[in-house]
Amino acid sequence: MGLQSYLDSSLEKTVDWFRASGGSIFLGPPQGPFFTLAARVGVQKSLPSIAEIKLDDGIAGVVARTGKGRIIDDPNSHPDLRQDDHRPRPISSAMVVPLLDQQGRPVGVLNISRSVGEPSFTPQDLAQAETLAAQLVLAVTNAQMVNGLRDMIEETRLSNEKLTAVLDSVAGAIVVIDPQGQVVNHNQAAAAHSFLDLSPDHDLTDLRKSLQACAELVLARPERQASRVHDGQLDRTWLVEATPLASGGAVLTVQEITEHERQQRELARVKRLAEIGQMTAAIAHEVRNPLTGIRSAAQMIRQSPELSEEFSQMIEEEALKLNGLCDDFLDFAKPMRVTCQAAQLFPLVESVCRLLASSAEENSITLTWESSCEQPTLNIDPGRIEQVIHNLVRNAIQATPQGGHVAIKVEGGQMTISDSGKGMNEEELSRLFSPFFTTKSDGTGLGLCTVRKIVDAHHGTVTVTSQVGQGTTFVLTFS
Ligand code: ADP
Ligand code: MG
Repeated sequence: MGLQSYLDSSLEKTVDWFRASGGSIFLGPPQGPFFTLAARVGVQKSLPSIAEIKLDDGIAGVVARTGKGRIIDDPNSHPDLRQDDHRPRPISSAMVVPLLDQQGRPVGVLNISRSVGEPSFTPQDLAQAETLAAQLVLAVTNAQMVNGLRDMIEETRLSNEKLTAVLDSVAGAIVVIDPQGQVVNHNQAAAAHSFLDLSPDHDLTDLRKSLQACAELVLARPERQASRVHDGQLDRTWLVEATPLASGGAVLTVQEITEHERQQRELARVKRLAEIGQMTAAIAHEVRNPLTGIRSAAQMIRQSPELSEEFSQMIEEEALKLNGLCDDFLDFAKPMRVTCQAAQLFPLVESVCRLLASSAEENSITLTWESSCEQPTLNIDPGRIEQVIHNLVRNAIQATPQGGHVAIKVEGGQMTISDSGKGMNEEELSRLFSPFFTTKSDGTGLGLCTVRKIVDAHHGTVTVTSQVGQGTTFVLTFS
């Protein structure tokens, strides 16, 4: 039964019980301050439906505040009980009873009235009415709670409907399991692909096996699980993931990533082709200079054999340059492989700096290297890391004018290479690690690209900060 019909029928029974001619109930939140008309029968039907009582205002308001019921024997003589149209009501006696909740707070007022000619209410009537009022409040509170629950259930149902619609609109399969592994929610895609029954006695496909394994792992240890499943026959690939829920259980998802992976491969291929194109142009450009030198030197030897000593040395130098170029290009073209072993950073810095000290000195650049006392042993490829340090220190020396300085510092697994050189602007910084980006007439633009590849292969990081005219700092971190 709804709250309204319950109130109407209770009021009707109460009025009959007291052989009264009318009654009304006003209800509101605990302590009001306003209680509005909730039900009315008999003579009180003439009350306007928007009628309300204010706590502490008028007889009913005072009854609500004090929590004490009252009998009024001549309501018409009482200004508070008169009607708005000032017509006298056919009432001889009235009872005004407070409705108090279990904490004794006023939640409304019950009025019962008798017609002219009927006997007045007695104190026993009032006592009975107060008992009835307590029952009424209890029932009203329960009904309100039931209504609240009903609203909550309806709200939950609606939000569940919305959630289901959202889940169904997702192309991938989604299954929500409880801590025991039982399916508590799923979308249409999950049902369509039979991901709901993963019991081991079923003949499971690789995909379903992988989903089952992910579910078992995530329930055993609440950490995100993911696995890539490839079906060689169909040439299709899926990503299976399991994410633990804070409330226990997990969300399992299966997404097909065949197309995504194909696009990634295509993108990498296009990038590689562009790099090969750039590399071919760079090789042609780089090889041409030393070759021109070699050809001129050979011509000079033919014309002036007495200068052969000098020019053959030139040929040798140019050939060495070509050799160096070949090394750079091969490094770039080969996939990066690292062979790690236990090693420390500082000895590698020392060996590179000793090698480059003379070139720094020739340019009147102060080259310093230092380390904090604690030297952790890292799992690195010493040859490759030496190459990284070499490329960075050589760039720093090349960028620094006479009188400047280049400093290398090693602190734990971190190495800082800073120079007081020309620095770089935003545009240069944004292209810094791209292959073939160089601002030098004899540069290949492969040094930093190789640095990044080697650092990535070590799962390390390389960051750079630079200011034009101030200098540049590279920071390498290995763990
Ligand atoms: P290359 O040395 O052959 O030019 P790199 O990849 O080693 O190729 O460097 C690319 C470019 O980055 C350089 O040409 C230079 O413009 C810039 N660069 C690198 N290191 C520094 C530095 N320490 N200070 C200023 N510019 C630098
Ligand atoms: Mg370089």
